[in-house]
Amino acid sequence: MEKYAVEVWDNCLKVIKDNINYQSFKTWFLPIKAIKLKDQVLTIQVPSQFFYEWLEEHYIGLLKKTIKKELGSDGRLEYSIIVDSSEQDPGPYTVNIPTGIKNSTTNPSVSMPIDINKGTSKEIPNPFIIPGLKKISINSQLIESYSFDNFIEGDCNRLARSAGYAVANNPGKTAFNPLLIYSSTGLGKTHLAHAIGLQVKANFPEKTVLYVTADQFMSQFIDSVRNNNQNDFIHFYQIIDVLIIDDIYHLAGKEKTQDVFFHIFNHLHQKSSQIILTSDKAPVEMKGIEPRLLSRFKWGLSADLQVPDLETRIAILQKKLYNDGIQIPPEVVEYLAYSINSNIRELEGAYISLLAQSSLNKKTITLELARQMIDKFVKNTSREISIDYIQKVVCDYFNIPVEMIHTKTRKRDIVQARQLSMYFSKKHTKASLASIGLHCGNKDHATVLHACRTVTNLVETDKQFRLFVEELDKRIKL
Ligand code: ADP
Ligand code: MG
Repeated sequence: MEKYAVEVWDNCLKVIKDNINYQSFKTWFLPIKAIKLKDQVLTIQVPSQFFYEWLEEHYIGLLKKTIKKELGSDGRLEYSIIVDSSEQDPGPYTVNIPTGIKNSTTNPSVSMPIDINKGTSKEIPNPFIIPGLKKISINSQLIESYSFDNFIEGDCNRLARSAGYAVANNPGKTAFNPLLIYSSTGLGKTHLAHAIGLQVKANFPEKTVLYVTADQFMSQFIDSVRNNNQNDFIHFYQIIDVLIIDDIYHLAGKEKTQDVFFHIFNHLHQKSSQIILTSDKAPVEMKGIEPRLLSRFKWGLSADLQVPDLETRIAILQKKLYNDGIQIPPEVVEYLAYSINSNIRELEGAYISLLAQSSLNKKTITLELARQMIDKFVKNTSREISIDYIQKVVCDYFNIPVEMIHTKTRKRDIVQARQLSMYFSKKHTKASLASIGLHCGNKDHATVLHACRTVTNLVETDKQFRLFVEELDKRIKL
């Protein structure tokens, strides 16, 4: 029985790992231990009350989804919290909770019944309402905390923010339709998109606002095709007043979904409904998106978000602290903001790790603690290597344009560059095989696996090839 709990939890971890950044995964999920599985109830042991609360606040949706996936719709999760009974001598904290821990040291009373049918993010409230009905209530899927109030303004985001604000005050009626917000990851696209949606709802309660990720849109569409109610799907989207689609670039290569989106887009635009899109690529770089869609994206405004400067980073952290009701010395805030300068999500990750560290070790937050943490943190994460970067290094090395990797060509040197990109992506990133395939010429996971094997075999058998690979490896890690 016990082994089974561990297995189930391991499976959950695999999914969770794919869905959050590695630092958060390490901080919040690795210390958890599965201890029991009985009657579809999985009990996990967490190191402290703080942990439990943090998980509940930030990862509830993800946990629900994964538990449902593993245990079916009756699946539930219970927490067992280790109660600190060693006030006198906290000792060094270890994440390896001793096995066979007695019941008296744990507090199994906190349980979170998972109501699987509510609120998991994939299940957008049945989108298939009867067309013609005027007033419907749909779940906008907006996250309250992603408000304009919480979105700190800086030079990095001024244009996008003020365009967003204008749109929120006058949806569909400004020149910014569609509004396309783009930036690299972790710089606030999703936050800003929600902020606009929330502001519209505040200004115009009668308007229907819907936030969906491009992935949700796509899977709803696929379901509708399967269930033969495509028309209902289209009708549903056509009645939305403000449609927000996050990470639109995920539709790359999905021709059917793009096609249906094209029709919805035209309809909405024509009746002056507002469309807001986000993308991690500028329109010119969106490969795999049909030209007729791309040209429509350019009808409105494309605004990018840049990396925030130090002042803005400090202000962002201060706002977070304030919202979380947490006080840490200003020099620590500055130190964090100074050290983590590439991406706001990472900055938040560092801040959260610091909180966790201090809570687990029962140490107050000092500059010294922050230094120790940042040292580790920066080593672990800020040198994260991306698939794009790997492709660039590989292609530069062979002197071929990066675009060639994304084409269908079977030319030998391109195939090799593609395979090497896949191999190094597997080696140096945490991306799944499927995701690597998608980014390297829209291939499936089997192709990636095959590429990795081919490269490994060649490294073992071909000396010249091995030298190539070693040299490339060095450049990538530089
Ligand atoms: P993206 O969608 O571009 O990857 P997100 O919108 O998810 O980025 O932002 C990452 C994190 O950074 C979120 O927690 C968000 O609240 C925070 N964030 C981004 N920009 C700002 C900002 N200007 N002010 C406050 N928080 C921000
Ligand atoms: Mg986002």
